[in-house]
Amino acid sequence: MKALLYHGPGARALEEKPKPVLIDPTDAIVKITHTTICGTDLHIMKGDVPTVTDGRTLGHEGVGIVEETGAGVSNFHAGDTVLISCITSCGKCGSCRKGMYSHCEHGGWILGNTIDGTQAEYVRIPHADSSLHRVPDGGDTEAFVMLSDILPTGFECGVLNGRVQPGDTIAIVGAGPIGLATLLTAQFYSPAEIIMVDPDANRLAVAKSFGATKLVQNNPVEEIMKLTHDRGVDAAIEAVGIGATFDICQSIVAPGGHLANIGVHGKSVTLHLEKLWSSNVTITTRLVDTVSTPMLLRTVLSGKLQPKLLITHHFAFADIMKAYDTFGNAANEKALKVILTN
Ligand SMILES: [Zn+2]
Ligand SMILES: [Zn+2]
Repeated sequence: MKALLYHGPGARALEEKPKPVLIDPTDAIVKITHTTICGTDLHIMKGDVPTVTDGRTLGHEGVGIVEETGAGVSNFHAGDTVLISCITSCGKCGSCRKGMYSHCEHGGWILGNTIDGTQAEYVRIPHADSSLHRVPDGGDTEAFVMLSDILPTGFECGVLNGRVQPGDTIAIVGAGPIGLATLLTAQFYSPAEIIMVDPDANRLAVAKSFGATKLVQNNPVEEIMKLTHDRGVDAAIEAVGIGATFDICQSIVAPGGHLANIGVHGKSVTLHLEKLWSSNVTITTRLVDTVSTPMLLRTVLSGKLQPKLLITHHFAFADIMKAYDTFGNAANEKALKVILTN
């Protein structure tokens, strides 16, 4: 089968690789019908994620059809259309029993990281019973790809950890796919103001059409303090993963507010405790647990959430090298999420 392989920082290739086989009785083999490229894959390509080693098949998002299941899998059968969660969970260990699937002792974020991922024609999914979700008949499979990672990530790491409340003023720093997924799911809680921050005018225009109430392109700290009459924001949500955007968040969080980090950071940041120690703020970090995926799936099915809006480009899977170029050059290409179809 064909798969997209990582060969060290900056080096990737579409290559032939043996089709995965069942290893444990709790495994399923899934034939990928749709997958996508994540900002995290770009971090991997930069060398920010040292757990990814040479020869790894990348990708942790996708929808597919179950091809084969191990003897220990009872919830899924060959022929089922399934959503692949970016987080693998055994459902039984101490972390899983706390609902913290991201730190499952036998899983967590392993797909496209420490085991081969979804940017391939087939993938092996360990602990299939608790790591797959059924896609109901008639469900829009492309839209469901947005539920593998970006919607639960924006919602859990940004909206829930940011404790967004009705009437709040919130700022989302970064209007890429994760920031926009945060913007979509923040509206479950009716914040009064959603300030979207990004240097890219096209992304801000998209954010406006998704429900942002204020857009900030330049001098974000100054602008947001002006917009909030020097008070700052109730929730400052970091959706990029670099020091500069974390800095913006710690400069704009109001007393009593919440700074929710979503971004994947490859380098250290400076924490200004000399300013924040007396501000009653909370700072949270999280790897998405995907505990909200069943709820988000129902909101997508009902039409209340429209994640398909995030899809800007379509490619055949065979053109994944081109898709990486497009996604890696997102600003010029006006790219949000790219969908690859097998
Ligand atoms: Zn991802
Ligand atoms: Zn577990």
